Amino acid sequence: MLVSSTKNLEQQWADVQTMLRDDVGDTAYTTWLQPLHAAELDGDRVVIGAPTPFMRDWVAAHYADRIRTYWSRVNPQVRKVALDVSGTAQGLRLEPRSEAAPSPVAAPAIISSPTAPSLQAIDGYSAPIDPRFTFDNFVVAKSNDFAFAAAKRVASSAKPPFNPLFLYSGVGLGKTHLMHAIAWEVRRQDPSRRVVYLSAEKFMYQFVRALTTNSTLSFKELFRSVDLLMVDDVQFIGGKNNTQEEFFHTFNELIERGSQIVISADRSPSALEDLEERVRSRLSWGLVADIHPTTYELRLGILQTKAAKMPNVAVPPQLLEFLAERITSNVRELEGALNRVVHQTTLLGRPLTLDTAQDVLHDLLRANERRISIEEIQKAVVAHYNLKLADMGSKRRSRVVARPRQVAMYLAKQLTPRSLPEIGRRFGNRDHTTVMHAVKKVEELIRDDETIARDVETLRRRLQG
Ligand code: ADP
Ligand code: MG
Repeated sequence: MLVSSTKNLEQQWADVQTMLRDDVGDTAYTTWLQPLHAAELDGDRVVIGAPTPFMRDWVAAHYADRIRTYWSRVNPQVRKVALDVSGTAQGLRLEPRSEAAPSPVAAPAIISSPTAPSLQAIDGYSAPIDPRFTFDNFVVAKSNDFAFAAAKRVASSAKPPFNPLFLYSGVGLGKTHLMHAIAWEVRRQDPSRRVVYLSAEKFMYQFVRALTTNSTLSFKELFRSVDLLMVDDVQFIGGKNNTQEEFFHTFNELIERGSQIVISADRSPSALEDLEERVRSRLSWGLVADIHPTTYELRLGILQTKAAKMPNVAVPPQLLEFLAERITSNVRELEGALNRVVHQTTLLGRPLTLDTAQDVLHDLLRANERRISIEEIQKAVVAHYNLKLADMGSKRRSRVVARPRQVAMYLAKQLTPRSLPEIGRRFGNRDHTTVMHAVKKVEELIRDDETIARDVETLRRRLQG
């Protein structure tokens, strides 16, 4: 390669980096993008070098789209971005570069046929779809099988089987994964369907921007021309009334037109306090599916699946069991823990053992220990309502006892990773359906009864504080 073109490549990369930094912010930029370097420009393809396989995969999944977009602005010839492991500035080389197997580059954000008329226009509204988030890569267990089945149904039906599909769960339990999986599947079956996936925050931002530039009409039209609209994390929509209004109207029109809508949130529709009542109730018209906290079996299953896909690494089964046992918070942390252990031990040339894992993960393990326990919840609840701890497990059914017990079960479901049967067991060996009923009941009460709503909020804050 000529010296001048190498220089040229570096200059291009510098420009792309500036844009990336503006886009993702300093923290993400310094962590993930600054350590990369431009390795090669070959016709319409740039090769970016990452210092480690882990970083390569991360960047491929999270930033490849942006890199490609910005690069094509700097140099319109560039259409493809490949990521590669090619050593750090210190000359550390962990894996030979392989030209034959470039990492997957994230798919285009808006998934549609190239001939769709307003593709260019909608393009800016959709977020990237993560290539790893497919149905095949989703491990199914009791805690998520309903949500999984619902997502599959939506993805494989020509007409909306239920509308909207509302997915909710605590953080890191697979909502975004399922939404992306729907996008992939819909695209596989019919590339001409228009799919838009975006976060509620982005939806709001786009709308507010459209308002200020007076282009609301085209904004509305854009969204209304979509076959499948997925809005992630709608708990962030709220406050601003005209945005809600817009959301509501767009939503209704799409449904009337027969477009599928998928929504996710960190809580049930009725618990979205910042939303107007009619929006809340509209959201629960279709199918509401929640993903429960993970069980040990699911955690182990996910770790086994992930570990099996790690090339050249044999993770001892006891290590997987240990992680499944101890990292109970959510799947994101669980995956992060496995990556960290494998990555750091390989980097430091240490053996993959329980000891090293404990060492590498000491902070994470401690954080998982500090989680709120069911007993703490029970104690806080009985103190609040002036009851005795024994009342939590007793068979008494009078409302003075039964209601606080339900509140405690609800909080246990919300604040701990315990499953419904586990929670039931801790409340005098009750059945999981009793816990489920309690959770539903308290959700209803939070909506309809201010006193209960306030009690729950006070307790939640006390426990989390
Ligand atoms: P949420 O959107 O609910 O916060 P995500 O969908 O972002 O959670 O999931 C966090 C991480 O955990 C992702 O990397 C996702 O692939 C993974 N994950 C969650 N649930 C599962 C599952 N059942 N099987 C495999 N991976 C999962
Ligand atoms: Mg998410």
